[in-house]
Amino acid sequence: MENTASIMDLFGTNVFNDKAMRQYLPKTIYYELRKTIEGRKDLDPAIADVVAAAIKKWAIEKGATHYTHWFQPLTGVTAEKHDSFLTPPKEDGSVLMEFSGKDLIKGEPDASSFPSGGLRATFEARGYTTWDCTSPAFVREDAAGAILCIPTAFCSFTGEALDQKTPLLRSMEAIQQQSLRILRLFGNTTSKKVTPSIGAEQEYFLIDRQKYLQRKDLIYTGRTLFGAMPPKGQELDDHYFGTIRQRVGAFMHQVNEELWKMGVPAKTQHNEVAPAQHELAPIYAEANVAADHNQIMMQTLKRVAVRQGLVCLLHEKPFAGVNGSGKHNNWSLTTDDGINLLDPGKRPHENRQFLLILACILKAVDTHADLLRESAANVGNDHRLGDHEAPPAIISVFLGEQLDDVLEQLLSTGNATHSIRGGKLHTGVKTLPDVIKDATDRNRTSPFAFTNNKFEFRMVGSRDSIAPSTVVINTIVAEAFADACDILEKADDFDTALHDLIIQYIAEHRKIIFGGNGYSEEWVEEAARRGLPNLRSMVDAIPALVTEKSIRMFERFGVFTATELHSRAEIKYETYNKAVNIEALTMIDMAVKQIIPAVIGYTGTLSGIVQSMNSIGVDATVQLDLLKDISVLLKEARGAVEILREVSKEATTIENNETKAHYYHDFVLPAMEALRRPIDTLEMLVDKEVWPMPSYGDLMFEI
Ligand code: ADP
Ligand code: MG
Repeated sequence: MENTASIMDLFGTNVFNDKAMRQYLPKTIYYELRKTIEGRKDLDPAIADVVAAAIKKWAIEKGATHYTHWFQPLTGVTAEKHDSFLTPPKEDGSVLMEFSGKDLIKGEPDASSFPSGGLRATFEARGYTTWDCTSPAFVREDAAGAILCIPTAFCSFTGEALDQKTPLLRSMEAIQQQSLRILRLFGNTTSKKVTPSIGAEQEYFLIDRQKYLQRKDLIYTGRTLFGAMPPKGQELDDHYFGTIRQRVGAFMHQVNEELWKMGVPAKTQHNEVAPAQHELAPIYAEANVAADHNQIMMQTLKRVAVRQGLVCLLHEKPFAGVNGSGKHNNWSLTTDDGINLLDPGKRPHENRQFLLILACILKAVDTHADLLRESAANVGNDHRLGDHEAPPAIISVFLGEQLDDVLEQLLSTGNATHSIRGGKLHTGVKTLPDVIKDATDRNRTSPFAFTNNKFEFRMVGSRDSIAPSTVVINTIVAEAFADACDILEKADDFDTALHDLIIQYIAEHRKIIFGGNGYSEEWVEEAARRGLPNLRSMVDAIPALVTEKSIRMFERFGVFTATELHSRAEIKYETYNKAVNIEALTMIDMAVKQIIPAVIGYTGTLSGIVQSMNSIGVDATVQLDLLKDISVLLKEARGAVEILREVSKEATTIENNETKAHYYHDFVLPAMEALRRPIDTLEMLVDKEVWPMPSYGDLMFEI
């Protein structure tokens, strides 16, 4: 058993956090930097050299040889280019370790290799990474050695955001400003800062690496493109919260240690619904830091898995017919003096500030349901949303019994006089303690659910950055706050105006509230009656980015320009097209080079058996029937390959990315389905020994 250091000793040891800053920075510089981190002052370039020298000293003591500007371009994964601290050798052959203020503040990766959605022509490929001092630098240890990672934003030469972080920071400023206006309305003069807090729960699958390497679909696309269901699926629900397997336990143990070192407060871990599926949740943090933490978490899961002979699948739907993976975005607003604006308190019906905030959030989500849905759109999530185990593609809000009741009172009588209380949970067993119940039970099927003192947006895909959905939530709520403040700040009679506005918002937007089963077919029909958008696929969702309503709002709060929004839409279409194209080609490859030859080989064996049985006069009808069935399916598969080949080829001739995306969605995806069907059936008929890749059962149950 290896030595286990205590969490307290380990936590944050590889982070240039406040403690390290105090230790390594001169006092005056420390206070200067703190002001910038807290948003009270712009960064003074004059202190950059001193800060850089301190970070270098600290990082080198941690064994770092290289540094990198760590950023999140629109490829969906983090990017980094490693530079060593080494200077060119002097005449005597000796070298120095150097890291200047300029190295810290600014980097210039070749922007042309990252998606920009037409934001820059290749002749002006410049892009800059700039230090984000609000997210602490950290040292990451892996096979490449120890590397100092400096979280950075990534912008084009002309200042357009090319990444996830820039708009996130902008949206945090927007929500902060508008939240402060709300607080001032209610007489709060002391809170100076309001930050959105995010807790991102991460789901993932863990499989054996040797088996993974035998599946081209997993290698190239992150999900299985073929695969018949195993005899046992998740129907017994015996995996969910089940005992964690030893091998997985060892993996989680190492993941936690690595994360703690890098200051990521990994907190809870458990098995998820599907076999081989797990979840890891950190303690929440400021949105920007939380978004970086989530990236570190995803990287760490992948890295540690490989080290242990495993592979971590972050795809939203690695196995058809089996529960997919998401990422829950828990969102709340907290002041610098510790007030959570989403905390209803013990008596919500009397908490006017909370009721206004709640009414604004209902308005925001209802008005921009399409945009919120879009923020969770990615190619993998299309296979998950609207399936029987994930939230539907329809946005609705779950509030719970207590708040539903308060709103009902407000609407029916104009006044809310009481709040339903939680009470005690009686187990009926003397030796068990009676625990205090929450006032409201949970609804696991709601995409946007109120959970005690935060909202939980459950649509985000497991691979996605938490940033886009947070940007949308921050901005739509900022807009609703701003609209409300515009009215209330001018009101002669604040109390009456407030009362009327809350009721008005609730009445106008109650159609977004839904407490029933979000996975049911009835809800789809009911939502249509209510006029709520149901954007089933990514292709249907992307246009929400560039509606007049969206552009007006994002420009008003300086979060995105129209140009940036158009470029993001363009990148999303492009990403969709590339991903589906790779999937189609991978299917053809696997079918033609692996599966069909294996099945043909098997038919050869079978017909040999039939012949020899016939020659000695033994009844071979069973063998012959099987041979016939297989041949029929083989022919169907062969035909489907041809069709898939044709439509994939046709798709590549389409110039316009949006048109192309629709073609992929309408023609290529169905052709892929049509190929999968006969092949999955064949898998159930053919001898397991000859099937050229591990089955679903092998992948999910044998690790
Ligand atoms: P639940 O029981 O509702 O799932 P947990 O306590 O397990 O809640 O938290 C789920 C996630 O939500 C965790 O990542 C947690 O840190 C985060 N979280 C808890 N409180 C808040 C909050 N006020 N704001 C944002 N995230 C939060
Ligand atoms: Mg959750």
